[in-house]
Amino acid sequence: MDAEQVRRDVRAWLEANWNPELSLVEWRAKLADSGWGCPTWPVAWHGRGLPAALGDVVAEEFERIGAVSTPGGGGMSLAAPTILEHGSDELKSRLLRPIITGEATWCQLFSEPGSGSDLAGLTTRAELDPVTDEYVVNGQKLWSTSAHHARFGMLLARTNWDVPKHRGITYFALEMQQPGVVVKPLRQMNGYASFNEVFLNDARVPAANAIGEVGNGWTVALATLAHERRSFDALRAARAPKGHGRALDEQRRETAEIMAPYVWYPQRAGRADLVVERAKATGRNADPVVRQEIVKLLSLARASEWTARRAKAARVLGRPPGPEGSLGKLYASEVARACARVHTLISGTDSLLAGADGPLEGIIAEILLSVPAVSIAGGTDEIQRNIVSERVLGLPKDPTLDADRPFRDVPRNRL
Ligand SMILES: Cc1cc2nc3c(=O)[nH]c(=O)nc-3n(C[C@H](O)[C@H](O)[C@H](O)COP(=O)(O)OP(=O)(O)OC[C@H]3O[C@@H](n4cnc5c(N)ncnc54)[C@H](O)[C@@H]3O)c2cc1C
Repeated sequence: MDAEQVRRDVRAWLEANWNPELSLVEWRAKLADSGWGCPTWPVAWHGRGLPAALGDVVAEEFERIGAVSTPGGGGMSLAAPTILEHGSDELKSRLLRPIITGEATWCQLFSEPGSGSDLAGLTTRAELDPVTDEYVVNGQKLWSTSAHHARFGMLLARTNWDVPKHRGITYFALEMQQPGVVVKPLRQMNGYASFNEVFLNDARVPAANAIGEVGNGWTVALATLAHERRSFDALRAARAPKGHGRALDEQRRETAEIMAPYVWYPQRAGRADLVVERAKATGRNADPVVRQEIVKLLSLARASEWTARRAKAARVLGRPPGPEGSLGKLYASEVARACARVHTLISGTDSLLAGADGPLEGIIAEILLSVPAVSIAGGTDEIQRNIVSERVLGLPKDPTLDADRPFRDVPRNRL
């Protein structure tokens, strides 16, 4: 099927069906039934099996007519693709539809106080209760974005301690609204509270909610992480269309809630877009040193953007992920840090003033306090460099002392 045919089909369908007076869930149920909400998903699972390039054509038509699409957030961008790749048919039929309609939001319960970079060293335990066929989960998760409103968590827990660390982990879909799950917000240095600590005290998850085989959770987690690294900015994708009507109004409220943890994400990217205007406004554009730094920054930002576009184009053409993908995340960190330096050069000590006292109503200070997050979230720069050196350049692997012995025997810190 070619782009023009797809454009004609989706346009005809939208003209016949888009009704802003439906409730958000009613409208998205139509998207799930027709396949137009997730056109690149398989036909059997609410999609139309289209390649990514034709998915973009569908998105353009939604935007043109101002129709509501699927929700933003980790449900669509991380949980759904993982379930599609690794979930049983029973899980797919139970979990995918509420993600599309927005009835179920998701958070990622991966990191723990003692395991972030060394994610496979996690110690949250899940033990099977054979009477109820449920796993009983105990442990603590950390940095869990959106856990305060999520209905499900993508939970990694250890189900076998007698095998090496990568082989004893299981990936579960955990219901968050239950007495065994306690969510506490964490305040960051930039003032926002986007993350949470999640305490799991005898939380329960049905055995049927294991995504992939029991003990094979590491492979499933890699799928989620690949989606996160590939589209680590996609969480910002939720945009509320303009106009009025029940579906549109409900979507605006939904977007406000889902996107609240991400309001500072533009600042964490460093805001290269503000640099030239700021230099002109402050007169620092006349300083040759500042001019040179601005040009260096903008060249880096442009090269990084082109690399990201090459990675996207390769994906659209169905090519396997190449080195561009691995470099993209690393360069996002380089650009963010370079932006922070140049903003400081331009604004001087004023950059430290937060809120209304600071330049751009505190945006510059917010940039300085937010950019460190880019080089940590979704895997730190050092880990990303390890990935580039081992998988792209083929250099020898980091030595490891714990990968082959039963996890029970691996020495570790006691918290
Ligand atoms: C904005 C943001 C959002 C996040 N959202 C989520 C979320 O929703 N869910 C979730 O589960 N987690 C989330 N995280 C957590 C994130 O995945 C972890 O912070 C990250 O993986 C690093 O782990 P850590 O904080 O435990 O640092 P550590 O692993 O303790 O690392 C500390 C330092 O040691 C370095 N280091 C560690 N191992 C190596 C090595 N082998 N070689 C070289 N250097 C090494 C690291 O690079 C780092 O500089 C989020 C983090 C941020 C900043």
